[in-house]
Amino acid sequence: MPSKTTTDATLAITAETLVSMDPASGNPVGELLVTPVDHIPQMVRDARIAQRSWGAMTLEQRAEILKSAVPRLAEEATQIGELLTREMGKPRPQGVGEATYCANGIAEEVDAIVDALRPETLEDERLRTTLRFDPHGVVAAITPWNFPLLMVFQSVIPALVAGNTVILKPSEETPLVAREWVAVLNEALPPNVLQLVIGDERQGKALVEAPIDLVVFTGSREAGKHILREASGGLKRVILELGGKDPMIVLADADLDAAAAFAARNSFRNTGQVCVSTERIYVEEGIAEDFTEKLAEKAAAMRIGSGMDSGVEIGPMINRGQKDHVVRQVESAVRSGARVIMGCHGPDDAGEGNFLPLTVLADVDHDMEIMREETFGPVACVMSVRSDDEAVRLANDTRFGLAACVWGDPDHAEEVAAKLTAGMIGVNQGCGGADGSPWVGAMESGYGWHGGRYGHRQFCQVRTISRAKQGG
Ligand code: NAD
Repeated sequence: MPSKTTTDATLAITAETLVSMDPASGNPVGELLVTPVDHIPQMVRDARIAQRSWGAMTLEQRAEILKSAVPRLAEEATQIGELLTREMGKPRPQGVGEATYCANGIAEEVDAIVDALRPETLEDERLRTTLRFDPHGVVAAITPWNFPLLMVFQSVIPALVAGNTVILKPSEETPLVAREWVAVLNEALPPNVLQLVIGDERQGKALVEAPIDLVVFTGSREAGKHILREASGGLKRVILELGGKDPMIVLADADLDAAAAFAARNSFRNTGQVCVSTERIYVEEGIAEDFTEKLAEKAAAMRIGSGMDSGVEIGPMINRGQKDHVVRQVESAVRSGARVIMGCHGPDDAGEGNFLPLTVLADVDHDMEIMREETFGPVACVMSVRSDDEAVRLANDTRFGLAACVWGDPDHAEEVAAKLTAGMIGVNQGCGGADGSPWVGAMESGYGWHGGRYGHRQFCQVRTISRAKQGG
């Protein structure tokens, strides 16, 4: 494998090792051996052999084995959560919260998946057909860094319950925390049911090219498109959860305080590095100034700092490259007429290291890249609109389609929400749905989906067995 040197301050890869860096301090957190690309075909062969006996177990047997890992994962959750914070930067309570959910949440998730994958019977006058949900075989799970465990959990648990074996390649930014979680889960699993590949996109590409059966990918739209192209040669199945440019619409009859509080929370949490962050805000012109002022007030009260310091709400950006991307979008918007209500104008006032001031921009428009391409950083962009129709037209003026939300009188807001083209839409709330709702992106934000009955079934091949009914 060629050696790679990079100017990125948070990551250093050599031919054999990957050093994971703390984005807050710039210090190393740990070092791992990179998986040589030419080891991947043998890992796939091992996974395929292991799949025979794993897939032959009943759903319930697999569920029991996975649930038996919960006590140990729960015991390690604080330690794993703190490692998550040091490696990725989010505040410690959120890191520990993510690790705790990815331990205790296994039991409930596994039960929901088992329920979705039990055989189902269809009948007409003549026939009885049984739908069986079979494993695909070997699954490649490729995950990002912004929720380093949750994204792994979401990909790995349904794949395993369904009877697939999994080769996981976590992000090169957060390999240590994934390795810890996998190691504890593997105390309960048979050998080679869950294997780990360490590396960057080269390992990801090699995994997609290897003879696997399903790629479950969460990450950027560009990488998703590449994976879809590569997988098409072998008609490999793919589930892609990609980026977004989520709009928020604030109608004239909205509760302004509640809307501004949500806008601040959902633009800045995780330092804006959330696939369903609010990236564009359209506000009816009569309330736009008030709304923007309230949003800036809420933002000014948020404390930025190292995720390990108590009371910090917003950590650093993941790395220098991501920070530069955000600053470049802001600088370009400002040059084209955006008004800085608070935060940075460009590189000169962009903050130390990987930290970035929370930024609120007004007077933005759709000629600006910041309103068209994913920012993935702590910037709230407010554009005033003359009518509901204009808000809907602008909100839908995108190739992305992950989430959206509308704030206003609930009936009025729901009427407007029904005109939006995103996959998950909230009325006076974020995009999360009732228990069992899918996690789904429309258009270029996704291909297939996760969660809920139909999402869990995407980790399976459906097979029907039909026979005549007795006396038919
Ligand atoms: P990324 O696409 O750069 O990398 C994601 C993973 O894919 C990493 O493990 C990386 O090594 C690997 N990879 C990169 N290129 C690849 C290729 N061509 N073939 C195979 N593997 C490849 O994304 P990121 O920067 O880690 O994560 C941020 C992105 O993820 C944002 O766009 C965000 O919106 C998106 N995301 C989406 C969801 C969702 O549910 N829709 C959730 C979280 C993050």
